[in-house]
Amino acid sequence: VIGAETNYGPFLGAVVIATGGFERHAQFRTSFLRGPAVGLAGAPGARGDGLLMGMSLGAALGNMSEAWWAPCIRVPGDSIDGEPLWRFLSLERASPGSIMVDQRGRRFCNEAGNYSDVGRALHSFDPNGFRFDRDPTWLIFDEEYRRSYGVASVLPGEPAPTWWKRASSIDGLAAELGVPPAALERTVSRFNDDAERGIDSEFGRGSSTYDRFVGDEARSHPSLGALKEPPYYALEVRAGLLGTKGGLKTDACARVLRVRGGYIKGLYAAGNASANCFGLAYPGAGGTIGPALAFGEIAGESAAAMR
Ligand SMILES: Cc1cc2nc3c(=O)[nH]c(=O)nc-3n(C[C@H](O)[C@H](O)[C@H](O)COP(=O)(O)OP(=O)(O)OC[C@H]3O[C@@H](n4cnc5c(N)ncnc54)[C@H](O)[C@@H]3O)c2cc1C
Repeated sequence: VIGAETNYGPFLGAVVIATGGFERHAQFRTSFLRGPAVGLAGAPGARGDGLLMGMSLGAALGNMSEAWWAPCIRVPGDSIDGEPLWRFLSLERASPGSIMVDQRGRRFCNEAGNYSDVGRALHSFDPNGFRFDRDPTWLIFDEEYRRSYGVASVLPGEPAPTWWKRASSIDGLAAELGVPPAALERTVSRFNDDAERGIDSEFGRGSSTYDRFVGDEARSHPSLGALKEPPYYALEVRAGLLGTKGGLKTDACARVLRVRGGYIKGLYAAGNASANCFGLAYPGAGGTIGPALAFGEIAGESAAAMR
């Protein structure tokens, strides 16, 4: 194990850097990432140590502005190794009977889409207000939804915790959230009409196999359901990530490349410590661990052969 403060060279053999991402290194986070990154849902060890080690040896970096983006919520008191832990919002967005709205009370995407693309949508910037107008954003659902589905740490049918915002009407909820009541009324009413017809005319939610897979196939529509039964609830959603996706640039043998050309002999990298081969894309389930495993194996083989 190499510590971040160690004098790294010269290498006596082969070293594979697999120390995860850099999202818990505050300066790297603000220097490199393309959007706000408040909700950190990953391991507390992701402090960019591997990045520092490689950089100090002249490694090239790649894909540094990217992450496995995710809409995240914070359950009060949740922590991991003494640091705040955020939960990424997944099935809660996809089951029938919930929507997400921005600070103007409007939906802005197909909520059932994959976490990375929906998380990226939270980076929207409003130049007039000089603010990220979807961070925070709101997950909204009704009493029937609460009875039927788990939300964050709360199991289906369990009483709603006191930290959930709630109101007996949609405009009452809007007042709680500070969003324009008329806009939120319009949004819910349009979504409800669409849900009754089984077609999301705004964003096509439920039209893909992915949407239906992450929805509830026991329902008449796996992805769409009207919000009709008070009380109505809202949870604050923040722009976040599962892990960063940029790091040491490697070649097909997982060798770490030099910023001035060539590669650093004996140094390999894999996983979130390395520049991810998918760029800004999220390829699907397992798309995060998959390349980490594949390049981990390649790095091991290359290191054993000292390629
Ligand atoms: C909530 C959640 C759900 C996820 N679900 C999925 C999923 O369903 N499918 C999927 O494919 N991916 C999923 N992922 C993503 C996946 O977990 C990560 O992409 C993957 O763990 C990255 O692997 P890694 O080995 O690069 O980094 P990590 O798993 O972060 O491991 C790096 C390790 O290195 C340690 N370390 C750091 N610095 C040092 C140092 N100086 N010395 C020694 N050790 C150090 C860290 O403590 C850590 O244990 C999920 C992530 C989260 C947060």
